[in-house]
Amino acid sequence: MSRLTTDILFRVADRSTFGLAMNTLGLVDELREEAGLVHGTVIHEGVTYRVRVSDDEDFTWSCDCSEPRGDTPCYHAVLIGMAYATGMLYRAWPYRPPRSPLDVSPIPFDHDGLMRRLRTGERGPEDPPLSVQILREVGNGRCHDLCLLFDEALDVFVLPAEEQRPAYLRALHAAAEAVGLFYLNGQPINGEDLYHWVMAYVEETENLIEDPDGAVEAAVSEINYMNESMSE
Ligand SMILES: [Zn+2]
Repeated sequence: MSRLTTDILFRVADRSTFGLAMNTLGLVDELREEAGLVHGTVIHEGVTYRVRVSDDEDFTWSCDCSEPRGDTPCYHAVLIGMAYATGMLYRAWPYRPPRSPLDVSPIPFDHDGLMRRLRTGERGPEDPPLSVQILREVGNGRCHDLCLLFDEALDVFVLPAEEQRPAYLRALHAAAEAVGLFYLNGQPINGEDLYHWVMAYVEETENLIEDPDGAVEAAVSEINYMNESMSE
């Protein structure tokens, strides 16, 4: 169990961040503890930030936001730490199920439209380029929605044999792009999560796709490269 206290937070946090966090505990969306680490999500202005904090030995933190990593934790990390330290985990507060930023974004996540594009490669007359659609969802922090999208898109085995390979390749390229965009967008935890989610499926299925010209192998190295180079 984490020994994180408000005293520790007061010591490490910027004074005004500490005050702000104390007054905005309602933005905490999820809170849980695993192996001494406190994990949580904060939904702020439609964007979900994922945070880990711990005070094992020293206070450490990580967050999806673009705040520079250093000794001084970002507002989201202080907020999650504060929620934990003040016992929100154990209080009978109305615990909400994990929520997609869909709930707060005015633009619905177009799962079916994106699936159709990944399946067929076709672009409707009104559609922006696929990469623009993906960038928009990345900007909205929709990691969970994108994980579910690519999970379904990579499951090409329901398709007629001749459509499987092109659909698989499209899904892989788009997933590599989304992973890279999460990192570029200052959401490394989302990038990492999407990468692991996609690779778990790819590892089980890549050998089931015929790959006479090595295009599948190249696409798999693209996504590996994207994750490794961006996470450094
Ligand atoms: Zn943050």
